Amino acid sequence: MYNRNRYRSTRSSAGVNPQYNRSEFALLDHVIRDVQEKGNTGAAASVNRSYLAGSLTLLVLLIAPLAVWIAWSIGRSDASIDVESSRFQVSGESMAPTLMGEHRLASCPRCALLWRVHPGVTGDDSSALQCAHCGDLMDLIDPRVKGRNASTVAADMLEITDLDPNFPLARGELVAVSWEGQLHVKRIAAVAGDTVDLERLKLLVNGIRVEDLLVSHSSDFPLPKFLVDDDARRRESRWAAAQESPLWERTPAAKWRYHAKGDSPWLVYHHQSIHSANRSSPVRDDYPFNVGLVRQLESVDRLFLGGSAAVHDDRILEVAFFSEHGNVIATANLPKTETGESRPFQLSYHDGIEAPELPVAANSPVAVRVRGGGAELSQLSIERLVEYRIRRRDSRTDYPLRVGSGEYFLLGDNVPVSVDSRQLGTFSSSQIAGRVIGVERSKSMRDSL
Ligand SMILES: [Zn+2]
Repeated sequence: MYNRNRYRSTRSSAGVNPQYNRSEFALLDHVIRDVQEKGNTGAAASVNRSYLAGSLTLLVLLIAPLAVWIAWSIGRSDASIDVESSRFQVSGESMAPTLMGEHRLASCPRCALLWRVHPGVTGDDSSALQCAHCGDLMDLIDPRVKGRNASTVAADMLEITDLDPNFPLARGELVAVSWEGQLHVKRIAAVAGDTVDLERLKLLVNGIRVEDLLVSHSSDFPLPKFLVDDDARRRESRWAAAQESPLWERTPAAKWRYHAKGDSPWLVYHHQSIHSANRSSPVRDDYPFNVGLVRQLESVDRLFLGGSAAVHDDRILEVAFFSEHGNVIATANLPKTETGESRPFQLSYHDGIEAPELPVAANSPVAVRVRGGGAELSQLSIERLVEYRIRRRDSRTDYPLRVGSGEYFLLGDNVPVSVDSRQLGTFSSSQIAGRVIGVERSKSMRDSL
């Protein structure tokens, strides 16, 4: 029944979704889930009570992992694939949210946000259906509503091409890598000659945190960002003026107005975690797709602030970002806008320079002010960047690790879950089966987070 030659024959034809057989072309990387014990910092992810049944599955995984690694495999272990490009359905969660395997959608009635959730989540999984933005219980969207049959959930389609010796693989790219007879998609974090090291749990390449190194790389698959706070979707804002200054006023439409002349006071964002009953907390690396996993959450400090500004005259926007190793301030010009017009902006930790005495801290990691006079800020939205770190199960004795000739250090974007070089060490170029050059998003998923 299985015919490996068919693997070679799935050509991509632009704009056409060829027939494919999932059982033959799925990329399998979903069978190992993180089963670390519940966290010991008080910041552990919520334990999904109804995942107890799932834990039995995990037990099976621990006892007989090989049995689970099979299924409909592509079955090739040799490196070269003699096709120009091929299309595959993504399976599994190790590259989420950059690439999504099968998943379902849930909507928050309070925030009107759509989140991707694990395909196994049911309406009874209350903690897995907790909105990551507000903590309210979400409604699971029946896939049948999207015109699919009841047993089908959405997944991205992927286009993979042969390697071209004229275009060597670079950091930040996605590749299909083969091990144990299956293909997996990973991101290249380090190439030959690079040194991978640790700073506490965080991964460094040549002395720079991986996400800091890769965030500026232009790529068809930029590093994923995750929504932390969308002020326009909150009735009670998490932003507040420093020292309770009355000069910042929030309108019913969630616009922040500063009326006075001269520099505004700081407007500070105060984070709260749904995992601690919406009490004050650092921003952590939770992600709705992983909510059902029992794992330890870690704090993150690579944040973005987006918004829109309306100003009667030229102003300067200053944004302060908290970082474990020194707070930074980022600056942008706000040119005068016409009446009724507002102009979007986005600033990140990476735009900033270190500065002392900024009004930010772990639990209040972003602050903004306007220099020069009145302004109206709207749509204030905070995102976090994926941060790459090792987990408890990963060896720490391997570092520093120098990547040898013809080797790659590969990571999955779903950092708590992915099986990659943190466990398996570097991969050789002979294991790289192709370069990921495109993705076709499942149509019903485009507005979801
Ligand atoms: Zn919500």
